[in-house]
Amino acid sequence: SSSFDTMKEKFSSELRELQNSKKASLSAKAMLAFREKLPAYKLKDEFLKAVADNQVLVVSGETGCGKTTQLPQFILEQEIEHLRGADCSIICTQPRRISAISVAARIASERGESLGETVGYQIRLEAKRSERTRLLFCTTGVLLRRLVQEPDLAGVSHLLVDEIHERGINEDFLIIILRDLLPRRPDLRLILMSATLNADLFSRYFGNAPVIHIPGFTFPVAELFLEDILEKTRYKIKPEFDNYQGNSRRRRRQPSAKSDPLTEMFEDVDVDIQYKNYSLPTRQSLEAWAGGQLDLGLVEATIEHICRHEGDGAILVFLTGWDEISKLLEKIKVNTYLGNSSKFLVLPLHGSMPTVNQREIFDRPPSNMRQIVLATNIAESSITIDDVVYVIDCGKAKETSYDALNKLACLLPSWISKASAHQRRGRAGRVQPGECYRLYPKVLHDAMPQYQLPEILRTPLQELCLNIKSLQLGAIAAFLAKALQPPDPLSVKNAIEILKTIGALDDTEELTALGRHLCKLPLDPNIGKMLLMGSIFQCLDPALTIAAALAHRDPFVLPINRKEEADAVKRSFAGDSCSDHIALLKAFEAWKGAKRSGRERAFCWENFLSPITLQMMDDMRNQFLDLLSDIGFVNKSKGAKAYNHYGDDMEMICAVLCAGLYPNVIQCKRRGKRTAFYSKDVGKVDIHPSSVNAGVHLFPLPYMIYSDKVKTSSIYIRDSTNISDYALLLFGGSLMPSKSGEGIEMLGGYLHFSAPVSTLHLIQRLRGELDKLLQR
Ligand code: ADP
Ligand code: MG
Repeated sequence: SSSFDTMKEKFSSELRELQNSKKASLSAKAMLAFREKLPAYKLKDEFLKAVADNQVLVVSGETGCGKTTQLPQFILEQEIEHLRGADCSIICTQPRRISAISVAARIASERGESLGETVGYQIRLEAKRSERTRLLFCTTGVLLRRLVQEPDLAGVSHLLVDEIHERGINEDFLIIILRDLLPRRPDLRLILMSATLNADLFSRYFGNAPVIHIPGFTFPVAELFLEDILEKTRYKIKPEFDNYQGNSRRRRRQPSAKSDPLTEMFEDVDVDIQYKNYSLPTRQSLEAWAGGQLDLGLVEATIEHICRHEGDGAILVFLTGWDEISKLLEKIKVNTYLGNSSKFLVLPLHGSMPTVNQREIFDRPPSNMRQIVLATNIAESSITIDDVVYVIDCGKAKETSYDALNKLACLLPSWISKASAHQRRGRAGRVQPGECYRLYPKVLHDAMPQYQLPEILRTPLQELCLNIKSLQLGAIAAFLAKALQPPDPLSVKNAIEILKTIGALDDTEELTALGRHLCKLPLDPNIGKMLLMGSIFQCLDPALTIAAALAHRDPFVLPINRKEEADAVKRSFAGDSCSDHIALLKAFEAWKGAKRSGRERAFCWENFLSPITLQMMDDMRNQFLDLLSDIGFVNKSKGAKAYNHYGDDMEMICAVLCAGLYPNVIQCKRRGKRTAFYSKDVGKVDIHPSSVNAGVHLFPLPYMIYSDKVKTSSIYIRDSTNISDYALLLFGGSLMPSKSGEGIEMLGGYLHFSAPVSTLHLIQRLRGELDKLLQR
């Protein structure tokens, strides 16, 4: 039979692999012995029986107990044993790309196969799988896209949804779909895997599905708080107000202070906090340290302390993002002790690193070297780095939050939950007793919330709403009401409104041609639209750069004491464009040139630019190009330059900007020798002082399109571009004839253009032509 052939083939390939594998560090026998020691192994029979008897099963267990690597494998082995191997198709979802790859690779090597045979992976734009693949690891996003084609998941016998406790928006979305799907697929088995939190919540959601708990083994992990660390390291906290503080960025505004446990904590804490002999000078400075940037000197001192005075073992450092990771890498490089590259192997681990580099983490370093991994919270629960003995926890993670009333989204480092802190600590006790260094005081730890809010409750919902439509799941609001914790109806309403305004949904909430393309791009729909328009209108290169800056952050830094010089530099990049977006575009292009001629550092220094941000933007440009190529809008092998015929045409670039940033538009009204600015939502606004348009009295064109609004002493428009009425009429939102008779209206009557009706018809026809370009 064919299953028999499969088995035979598998067996011989296994043998072949084993014979060939000079690299395999463990023999098949040792590998089996390792697996048998994992806590999950003891529950193998109970697990398989529960899978056979129940359509839905929830499994919880401490990180490292063997859920991800063993449970799917148990199913696979059983199916092969019962000669059903050829028919089985097991899918296991992972929230992140890197875990999908690393886990698949691990299981393949446990089975003595190469990756892509029985076990494979599929992530966006990258896959290793074959005809013979029976166990597939994929990201949750990949499974969601598969559901578009196969709403019933035909052919899938077992689905495992991993890391469900993280409450990512995709996972919360997926389980709504699955709960509706299960009655249609009675033979499908669903297994939800979670760390040891809240398993009952999921069980209840699925009609009291049975829960199996895998008791774990972890060695004890000693916990040190800031007060202990300061004593051990003799480090004095000096809040690092480096010159580059206050980097302007759209998603980096302080969120409402209410949500910050630290702020609440300060209500009851004395002004001068004494930590043993070390005093933290004043309330302000502690607040600045704790609420602002992490003191990287403290992190460095802690690493050095461990390396000098504690035993062997890898160190895992939790930081909030790429910025901190790269700054700390620099610091370590020049540290007289830690800089010794023959003794210390320092590796960054970050979600948007290229996958090749990420895999280095799993190669063991030469035995005489100490591995120091600088990671984001990606290393919290889904990736197991063996032999970590020391964890250094900064206590924060970048978290998005969404303020539905003010329609503001921010991505900011904020304090983690107790549950996350527990997870992080657990990474240390896997091979021997470990230590966890927490870079925050015990009082703060006690003030942390028990769990983090699920992502669905704290992010803008535009992308999710588009996905609901593309999966044909019915009315958006009704669907979302079925979520484990449904989002605020106001957030849902805002998202739908934005999608209608930008033309992704029509009046009946159905997808338009533009909406269908945007569904396929895992991006904020406004940014997606800018990229699509950039490729259609042949100015892709600038669109990629500006979109990267919008999705990431502004590369211009604001030095506190050299502000005037910095402003002058930015203005010189902008030329006479009246555009902050053009300024950053020109700065990026100049940086590319400087990089080619090897004078990147001096260039960035002289021009007040962040090399880290520019590099990240460059990487994102490539990712965007991959995405556009994936949906057939461009051919990547030709490069962005092939879609750049109007790449130097400022009017065209501004039109594409308008398409992407709409409805963020304000009117420039002449008041004597000056200009006043008005927005639809809030009336009079000002241009932010950091903008190249600040202090300009008169503008050539009547409108500004902008990246975002901030409210401080007054309401400011940040990063603006002066645009013409034609850009708005052709690339903005929908048009209406004015009620008063002659003229055209936009934004529900807020913008008014006097023009004869015939002009309106002409513009409508031109827009119809533009729409046709999207019908592909
Ligand atoms: P869980 O999903 O319960 O957190 P895993 O199945 O990921 O646990 O891991 C089980 C064990 O397998 C870990 O404790 C670790 O020792 C080992 N392991 C997992 N992935 C790898 C890997 N890529 N390299 C080496 N060992 C690994
Ligand atoms: Mg796992």
